Order: sequence, then C-alpha cells, then structure tokens
Amino acid sequence: MTAVKKLYNYPAHGVRVFDRVLKEQAALGRSLLSLSKGYFLGSGVSFRFLFSDAPPSVQYELTYFYGRRREDSDPVFQSWHVSTVLRMRAWWIPIGYFYLLQKTVLGENQARCVECAGVFDVEEMIAHGSYYVCARCKPAFIQRLTEGGLVGDDLRAV
Ligand SMILES: [Zn+2]
Repeated sequence: MTAVKKLYNYPAHGVRVFDRVLKEQAALGRSLLSLSKGYFLGSGVSFRFLFSDAPPSVQYELTYFYGRRREDSDPVFQSWHVSTVLRMRAWWIPIGYFYLLQKTVLGENQARCVECAGVFDVEEMIAHGSYYVCARCKPAFIQRLTEGGLVGDDLRAV
C-alpha cells in the first residue's frame, strides 16, 4: 500500500492534483483505494490518497459542486457511481462537496446498459442506435420506445 499526500488551494486545483496523482500512480501500476481530506495546512488543504499495488480496473473522476449535498442518483453524475463524498469548507463554513466518482473500465466486448447502468457482454444485450440495453431492462425499454418516451442522453438533456 502506498500513501500519497498533496496540497491544493481551491476546488478546481484539487481536481487537477487528483488527476495528476492518479495518472502518475496508474503508470506505476497502482490503483486508488481511498481518498480522504486532511486538515488545512498553511496555504492549502491536503488530499490523502491510498493506493494498492494492483493495476487499475476502475476509472475514477473527481468533481465538485457548491451548495447542498447531491443525491447519488442525481442526473449530474450520469452513469458514474458516487464512491466517496468529501465536504468543502471555507473558513470552516461548508460550501459544497467533492464527489469521487467511479466507473468500471469496460472490456472489449462489454457495454453499459442505458437503463440500469450495469455492465454486460455485448452479445447478451440489444443495440439501439448507439445505446445498449441489457436483457433484464429490454421489456421496459421497448415499452418506452413504443410509447415515444425519451432514452438515455435525450432524457438527461431535458
Ligand atoms: Zn439494464
């Protein structure tokens, strides 16, 4: 296990630091185990990363939003899974949250179901334009299509 500690000064900087550290560690064959925040230290706040010595099989993204804590099912996260939420503060006043998002890296013959976001072999799914739907979600999907409902990105764009 490898621990890495980095300082950042403001949320967008924190995201850049996160991206850089993950890229550096992935190049060394290490994958992220956890992310936490340390205390305010002089000129910045610290992120504490823990890495395992296994190559990454999950894709991570760090994002942030000011204001209230968003539900894990919030449409802004799209097909990402919220794995960790860290509070952002300015002078001890909560101002928003960092969200560590994760996504399974798709294999060559895998796709993500547009309905349930599950990952399946393409052979077990039906394709509709650029979307894939798993066997379990297929009936509901077909029903919505025939009713002229919105699908996937159309839904998110509303
Ligand atoms: Zn599905």
